[in-house]
Parts: sequence; C-alpha cells; structure tokens
Amino acid sequence: MLNIVLFGPPGAGKGTQAARLLEKYKLVHLSTGDILRSELKSQTKLGLEAKKYMDKGELVPDQVVIGMIEGKIDSTPSAKGFIFDGFPRTKAQAKALDEMLAKKKSPITMMLALEVEKDELIKRLLLRGKDSGRADDQDRSVIENRIKVYDNETSPVKDFYDAQKKYKGINGMGSIDEIFDRLCKAIDS
Ligand code: AMP
Repeated sequence: MLNIVLFGPPGAGKGTQAARLLEKYKLVHLSTGDILRSELKSQTKLGLEAKKYMDKGELVPDQVVIGMIEGKIDSTPSAKGFIFDGFPRTKAQAKALDEMLAKKKSPITMMLALEVEKDELIKRLLLRGKDSGRADDQDRSVIENRIKVYDNETSPVKDFYDAQKKYKGINGMGSIDEIFDRLCKAIDS
C-alpha cells in the first residue's frame, strides 16, 4: 500500500494536489477538514460541535478527529492506499494513526510536506474565500490564527515522521503543474 501524509500549512495546496495524486496513484482521499464540513452541512452533533473550533481557526479535539479517521479507514478495506490531507495535525494524532495502520500492517510510506511562504498562504486563502464559501477563508484574523496554530501545534508533526526517515519537504511555490511534478518525483523516487 501507498499511504501518504500530505502535509503543509493552510493554503499550501494540499486539497488541489491531493485531487491529482488520487487520480494518478488510485488512492483514497481522507481529508478531516472535508469530513468535518460535510458533518456540519448535515447538521450532525459532531459537525455542530466542530464548528465552534473551525470558526475560530482552532483545532477540533484529537479524540474527535481520530475517531472519524478510524471509521473511514475501516470502511474502505479494499483501498490501495490513502492520502491523509489535513491529518495528522498533532503528535497525538500521528501516534494514533501509526497505531491504526499497524493493525492493518500498512504503515505510512512517507510524509510530503508542502513549503509555502506566509504571505503567499494568506493571498491564496483570501482568494479561495471569495468563491469557496468557507467562512474560515474570509476573515483575515481567522486565517492568521490558523497559520499560528499550524506553526505551534501542527508543524512539530514533521519531527515525528523525520525520526522515522519518512519526511520529505517539497517546494510548494510555483504553478500547480510544477508542484504536482515535484510531488510525483518524490513518490516515485
Ligand atoms: P482544513 O480544511 O484542513 O483547512 O481544516 C479546516 C478546519 O477543520 C481546521 O481549521 C480545524 O478547525 C478543523 N480540522 C481539520 N482537520 C483537523 C485535524 N486533523 N485536527 C483538528 N482539527 C482539524
């Protein structure tokens, strides 16, 4: 199996690149942000609870997202592999993911971490906010908080995979095609 953690700050292009990678490598996409937004759309208890955090750009509690991901992995036993997008976002989530995958005997293959400058992230998110309808992309202070939360709580997840020799940094500046090319080279090498 090919299990990829697609990592990077908000606005790094994870969703865009995940869509292309799925098609090329025939993987299953697991985006905790997408799952939470769909829960919110259906007005489930989980979605409404998560909204309180999402609106402020804070992280939803670990147990909630870990449980969600476990359910999705278990419900797709025939997958050739997964792209984890926006998960894990804390070291506790990364540990839990390793434990889930150990049970399936299919560990994370690599972490591909998109690196993008902060000014570019803010520009991309504000642009996306114009047509995505996402409330958290439309408010500059929420965007800045998400980047701060990424720097403080999520960025250390790199060390977790680096210690396992699975971390690969990818230049996330440039055109969508250029970045896709870099990701494919890293996967194929
Ligand atoms: P995203 O679509 O990945 O930018 O996620 C949007 C929001 O959903 C984040 O700002 C968090 O509030 C929440 N969220 C998504 N994934 C996670 C996660 N793995 N852990 C905690 N919160 C998450």
